[in-house]
Amino acid sequence: MRHKYVFVIGGVMSSVGKGVTSASIAKLMQARGYKVTNIKCDMYINIDAGTIRPTEHGEVFVGEDGIEADQDLGNYERYTGNAMKAENYITTGQVYQEVIRKERNLEYAGEDVEVVPDIPNEIIRRIQAAAKKDQAEITVVEFGGTVGEYQVLLFLEAARMMKRAHPKDIAFVLVSYLPVPSHIGEMKTKPTQHASRTLNEAGIQADFIVARGPHMLDKPRCDRLSVFCNVDEGHALSAPDVETIYEVPLVLENQEFSKKMLQRLNLKPKKKDLEEWGKFVKKIKSLRRELNIGIVGKYFGTGDFTLSDSYISVIESIKHACWSQGVKPKLTWINSETFEKNPSQLKTLSSYDGIIVPGGFGERGVEGIIAAIQYVRENKIPYFGLCYGMQLACIEFARHVVGLKEAHTTEINPKIKVPIIYLNPLQARNVVEKKYGATMRLGAYACELVSGTKARKAYGKQMISERHRHRYEFNNAYLETLRDAGLVISGVNPQQHLIEIIELKNHPFFVGVQFHPEFQSRPLDPHPLFLAFVKASMK
Ligand code: GLN
Repeated sequence: MRHKYVFVIGGVMSSVGKGVTSASIAKLMQARGYKVTNIKCDMYINIDAGTIRPTEHGEVFVGEDGIEADQDLGNYERYTGNAMKAENYITTGQVYQEVIRKERNLEYAGEDVEVVPDIPNEIIRRIQAAAKKDQAEITVVEFGGTVGEYQVLLFLEAARMMKRAHPKDIAFVLVSYLPVPSHIGEMKTKPTQHASRTLNEAGIQADFIVARGPHMLDKPRCDRLSVFCNVDEGHALSAPDVETIYEVPLVLENQEFSKKMLQRLNLKPKKKDLEEWGKFVKKIKSLRRELNIGIVGKYFGTGDFTLSDSYISVIESIKHACWSQGVKPKLTWINSETFEKNPSQLKTLSSYDGIIVPGGFGERGVEGIIAAIQYVRENKIPYFGLCYGMQLACIEFARHVVGLKEAHTTEINPKIKVPIIYLNPLQARNVVEKKYGATMRLGAYACELVSGTKARKAYGKQMISERHRHRYEFNNAYLETLRDAGLVISGVNPQQHLIEIIELKNHPFFVGVQFHPEFQSRPLDPHPLFLAFVKASMK
């Protein structure tokens, strides 16, 4: 099979939507009947995203195989439906680690090992291996960061070498930003022209420019951009801000992107199938009725932007479920620390249709979250707890229903008297030895659902598989006590008898899951538990 590669590179500044553009390109190639895959290359030395704070780098996306990756892999999965695995995520750290390993094993046969070409060669090897493993006809490779940054150079060098070796099989897309200075009120192309020249300095000529900005770029300006950035007529495309990111493939396709790209890759333009996606986007944009969902947690200190990035899969999952039910979600971030300072604020929770507590780590804001859970439990407000949100729901239940006032998790204090949530014994050693990288309980595990429960009804089947990322878990020593007091265990991992789902009877919806259902929700196929939560919230 001849593999084709599309490299997506950022210009001017980061966070302008390279990830969504890469996902959209893959989506469009897939809609043309080609088998696609995606790769994200991150420039940092970290081996994976698992050791990076979410406020620093956004959500840690977890693959089926347990890879802890950049959040862009979530977009790839949501747009294409393809499961992303370890090979779809490359970091500078992985590349150097492998080159040094090979050197120690004499695999360079006595040659001296050089940054160039040995580092780019390893990058190329990894990119090609991923394309082969996924049997992709077209692989979309996104480089993190922005052209001109020092650390992206070796990745650009790898791409340049691939282009030189296979000129007909490679295309370059520069996703660049066009600012609108307030005193002029017009989108300026000059920074993008500079970015395009900086790319030229690395020996790469963009084939397409995706011009991101607040508005549509008009035809004369697109033409001017193509002249100055040296791309073919019609290859400078406008990508304005849109109401929903799922519209981006359609915006590009309105400018005949897929046809032009297939021509550039010397592939036949097969028939296009984007109808369902088009209908879906049209539906989203027509929705009026709002559903008020509150998200209670921490990670709220650094502004809205970082915040939504930290929980992007949760947010998208809520949207998918809401849209399928004909409502649009209105999300409110509720800082749990306000409940610690001012418990009278808890009653504001009554103004929400449903409350979610997402995953998290550490002590900050935890007592506020527990107070919020108590409030929604007692006031019968639909509740969905994800990972930490499930663990804290168990603690709340133990404290206030069972009366075990000292119930807690050993994550906060290893010496607590009533460890409802405790360190998985298999994990204890990792913590003692400070082996933190890629050692949590990660990736997909089976879960058997208990008949007659809300979870079983939502999924409509008995065996499910969900992705995990945690070290602590429900302590089975307290299982009988909590169960006798009314806690329903609705999902269990059959191999290790780990509690995966809890719920309550006599409550419109109170469900906690040890896993992260948000990683498996798809725009046209919402996750069953998010769906059940949204349905309950609508009531
Ligand atoms: N901090 C908890 C644990 O490690 C929950 C993790 C999470 O929410 N992802 O078990």
